[in-house]
Amino acid sequence: MRSAIKIMNEIKGVRIAGTDAEKNAANKIVRFLGKKGVKAKKEFFPMLVSDTGDGIIKVKNVIVKGIPYGLTVPYKINGKLICIDSISEVMNLSNKNKNAIILTRERPKMSQFKKLKKIGIKGIITIVRFDGNISSQHLSQHMIKDRSVIPMMDISFDDAIKLRYQTGQKIIMTGNGKTFKTKATNIIVNMKGKKKTNETFIVVGHYDTVPYSPGAADNGGGIGVITEMIEYFHKNPVKRNLIFIMFSGEEWGLWGSRHYCNKHKKELKNIIGGLNVDVAGDVLGVNRGIITGNKRLMHTVRDIADFNGFPITVSEDIYSSDNMSFAHNGIPFLNICRAGGKPSVFIHTKNDKMSYIDEESFEDIVNFVIMFTEKIGNAERNIIERKIDDNMKKKISEYFKKKGTDSEQVTNNLPYLKKNK
Ligand SMILES: [Zn+2]
Repeated sequence: MRSAIKIMNEIKGVRIAGTDAEKNAANKIVRFLGKKGVKAKKEFFPMLVSDTGDGIIKVKNVIVKGIPYGLTVPYKINGKLICIDSISEVMNLSNKNKNAIILTRERPKMSQFKKLKKIGIKGIITIVRFDGNISSQHLSQHMIKDRSVIPMMDISFDDAIKLRYQTGQKIIMTGNGKTFKTKATNIIVNMKGKKKTNETFIVVGHYDTVPYSPGAADNGGGIGVITEMIEYFHKNPVKRNLIFIMFSGEEWGLWGSRHYCNKHKKELKNIIGGLNVDVAGDVLGVNRGIITGNKRLMHTVRDIADFNGFPITVSEDIYSSDNMSFAHNGIPFLNICRAGGKPSVFIHTKNDKMSYIDEESFEDIVNFVIMFTEKIGNAERNIIERKIDDNMKKKISEYFKKKGTDSEQVTNNLPYLKKNK
């Protein structure tokens, strides 16, 4: 059995940042690498997480269960149920809808949320998925920071249909989730280069999961890929430094990578570029490369893939993962994922599990990232331009704004909860 599968089996199961399960997984990863002769160190950082608990909606004799959004507070509210077809209709709601609870298919963006708060909407029920699964979502950090939480819950599509027939009725919505401050763990492996030690290439992927999800494809798969890379480069060092990081807190708003970028500001100057692996393991999937950086890197990745017969579609765009924290700091990133079948369609649900993962899916992708990193690491002159294209810069700042996550880095004092009391 290849290492990717072995490590995935070891850490499988829900591992929410900052919980005992996450610490357990971190220890297992460190031990696994230790057995291969690789020294990994742990770095801790503060963040907010929630025990999301259970959500219940009652109306007349209909009872529906859901998952409260993360970064939440306990609530019991009631209000008139209104259904809106599309979240963009939020802009048409008015003060007349004060105290209502809305049912909508998509989760609101930060600007829409602000409008709902202003009107005085009491609660929001979303149906993020149509396949019977309930999605594990979280509120934005700004909602906590600004003391502007609206109780939110995700429910299944079938239950949403039941509720649809109760439009106009008074419903009761209860959630017992709570948010607290915790310490989460990043795992770091530093490999010094043989020659060009003032240049570093960084490889990252997160190992934490959302509540309720065993996180096989997202992102046990990425951890599997990175583990095999670490083993390879431990035996076959390159000219430049390599840093491998398995981040925590990604699922709640890139906390681990934002903290790393803040704490290691000086070292960032030497980082020429990076690779992020988030979502892998689908046998019947497609390989995608998304560049958060510059066009030249996009062409470089395409050429290397083409010359080596590796099937992959490469585009330039944002990718909602730890690469964003680095791109915000001017470091271009290649994001690699393999998705499109089971289990990647089930990410952020209880069905993102190991039984859908296949060993074979790792063969090509691992070979490619090793070959790519080796080329970058050993090139006589640096082939990555350390530049973020202007259009990408704009997209990156919009991304953080839309998400309601500070692009500012995480520091050791989190004022959020204190203010929230
Ligand atoms: Zn992920």
